[in-house]
Amino acid sequence: MRPQILYPLFANLTSLKGVGPRMGALYKKLCGDYIVDLLWHLPTGIIDRSYAPQLCRAEKGRVATLHLKVAEHVPPTRPGGPYRIFAEDQTDQIALTYFNVKGDYLNRIYPPGNEIVVSGLIERYRQSWVMNHPDYAVSPGREAEIPKFEPVYPLTAGISGKMLQKAVAQALTRAPELAEWHDAALISREAWPSWKEALRIAHAPCPGNDDTPHRRRLAYDELLADQLSLAIIRAHHKASGGRSFKATGRLTSRLESTLPFALTPGQKQAIAEIAKDVAAPKRMLRLLQGDVGSGKTVVALYAMLQAVEAGAQAALMAPTEILAKQHHATLAKLLGPLELDIGLLLGRGRGGDRQATLEALATGKLKLVVGTHALFQEDIAFQDLGLAVVDEQHRFGVNQRLMLSDKGRGVDILAMTATPIPRTLTLTAYGDMDVSRLMDKPVGRQKIETRLIDMARLDEVVAGIKRQATKGAQIYWVCPLIEESELVDLAAATERADLLKQFLGPSAVGLVHGRMKATEKDSVMNKFSAGDLKVLVATTVIEVGVDVPKASVMVIEHAERFGLAQLHQLRGRVGRGSEKSHCLLLYQAPLGEMSKARLKMMRETEDGFLIAEEDLRLRGAGELLGTKQSGAREFRVADPMRDADLIDMAHGDAAVILAKDPRLESERGKALRTLLYLFNRDAAARLLRAG
Ligand code: ADP
Ligand code: MG
Repeated sequence: MRPQILYPLFANLTSLKGVGPRMGALYKKLCGDYIVDLLWHLPTGIIDRSYAPQLCRAEKGRVATLHLKVAEHVPPTRPGGPYRIFAEDQTDQIALTYFNVKGDYLNRIYPPGNEIVVSGLIERYRQSWVMNHPDYAVSPGREAEIPKFEPVYPLTAGISGKMLQKAVAQALTRAPELAEWHDAALISREAWPSWKEALRIAHAPCPGNDDTPHRRRLAYDELLADQLSLAIIRAHHKASGGRSFKATGRLTSRLESTLPFALTPGQKQAIAEIAKDVAAPKRMLRLLQGDVGSGKTVVALYAMLQAVEAGAQAALMAPTEILAKQHHATLAKLLGPLELDIGLLLGRGRGGDRQATLEALATGKLKLVVGTHALFQEDIAFQDLGLAVVDEQHRFGVNQRLMLSDKGRGVDILAMTATPIPRTLTLTAYGDMDVSRLMDKPVGRQKIETRLIDMARLDEVVAGIKRQATKGAQIYWVCPLIEESELVDLAAATERADLLKQFLGPSAVGLVHGRMKATEKDSVMNKFSAGDLKVLVATTVIEVGVDVPKASVMVIEHAERFGLAQLHQLRGRVGRGSEKSHCLLLYQAPLGEMSKARLKMMRETEDGFLIAEEDLRLRGAGELLGTKQSGAREFRVADPMRDADLIDMAHGDAAVILAKDPRLESERGKALRTLLYLFNRDAAARLLRAG
């Protein structure tokens, strides 16, 4: 139940004067349903009307406020022509123009001979000054009615700036004074205004007050609501039905002795962190974050074996069928010496012995399984599922995680992601989870040599590819989807595959694209991983996570069109074996300065975290996390880049608050509940009530 004091804020926008059902629909599109949504619709700029030049010194293309004397009216000379009012200051004259004039209101506003103050955009037309439809026109005595600074809002067709300003002004009068939810010491240290005052100031911007206390306060409100709700969800998750697994080491010690490599220190540490969670009576909700190729799979396997040692079952969920199959093959190989079976479950109607696998899972004969989303969406019965591993977590949002845990099986969850995001972003995207990071790479990995090459030199590239292929290398060739039409791209990729076939022989080159059936795609991918194909041409990003250790060359066409993190992911597909690997970034000249700098960065570093920071700076968080489409939250005021310090602070604050007052029952706790509802953190608020 939303606190009563917030009711006025959650009144529909149509309750505002001047906003009927028709306007209501426009506002809904622009910002949302409620008064509070309009209040969060903050200005993105300022019109500065303080510029008041004499005409002879004025700069065209600026908004100016002019003191003029009206000279004469010139009505339109043809239908649809402008109505012009000529006016002048001591230095020059200007035409104030209007279109579609009805009645004689212009005569009332601009009586000839009178002085007038106008404000609007001034422009030059045929060597004379013009101002089209002034925003303001008042007599000198009422000059104060022209605001010096005016907020500029994002608008939509049908809602003008002035209409929006009026609506916001009304909405502000509806905002109640709310009990302060922040710590008094913090408020005084940062000199933050109250919530209501901060909003008022935010809607009345003036130059230079962009990053002042009011904005930071509103950003912090939002971030604290966010961190607090994540912490509540996390606490709820941990408290519900966790179990303590007694891992004996029987299986993991055998795995360790049969592994074809030594674990990296990072892997060892992550395994230890997970083991602690698994043994603890609380439910695990942990994120394993590690760059492509850092070796997350084997870490997951350790966790799965611990569950099995304790008599439970473990499942690994991959985002695509190809990845599920690949994980299955990898794990089956590692499990061979342990004489432990692992099942594979894909969507309905796929995979032959589905029925047998289902039965074995239900009876508990089968302890391990790999699958796609189908694992959790369909009603698959486990005898005793203890651990779920979710690969490539960035394709899921907080809500999906909540759903997974709401399955009510009390399962531990280990999520894995290859997106190396900055710490502060981790806090907002995965703040409900504990995090383990693999910062090192397996030893023996060589630097991937990255080169930038103009598309004009395609012939040389193809010749080079041929040389590499003869020496036994396998090559990925990515032709991205760029055109609006998928067909055009497909044609380009097909053409590229044909060209490569001419040089390397028709049976050496395979093509995968989005329009192929999964089975066709699989068969091409399988040929490539078996070494039967030299080159794999792909239209889009090759499924994240595909592991073909022998592949040592990655060619990316139109590299300039990719995000840095994407390029990094793609490049990470090679350099997994012990041979020297290459990445060729082909670009279409001419490159802008920005593109040049970005591609150079790719050449100079393989540090996924550095690249991610840069990508975040250039493209924003939604793109980087790949969560734009998954419905993950975007902030209204806070900016993950700019407010990194606040994110950190909010994360710490949330922990302290909940440690002291887990049910938010103190005075301040109640105020914080209001904050949660203010930002519509319903899930968190509901959990508080339920528990
Ligand atoms: P990712 O983190 O991208 O999922 P994988 O788990 O697929 O990485 O591992 C990438 C490759 O590195 C695999 O071929 C795997 O067998 C290998 N690998 C994993 N750990 C090590 C290690 N400690 N030493 C050497 N190779 C390793
Ligand atoms: Mg992986």
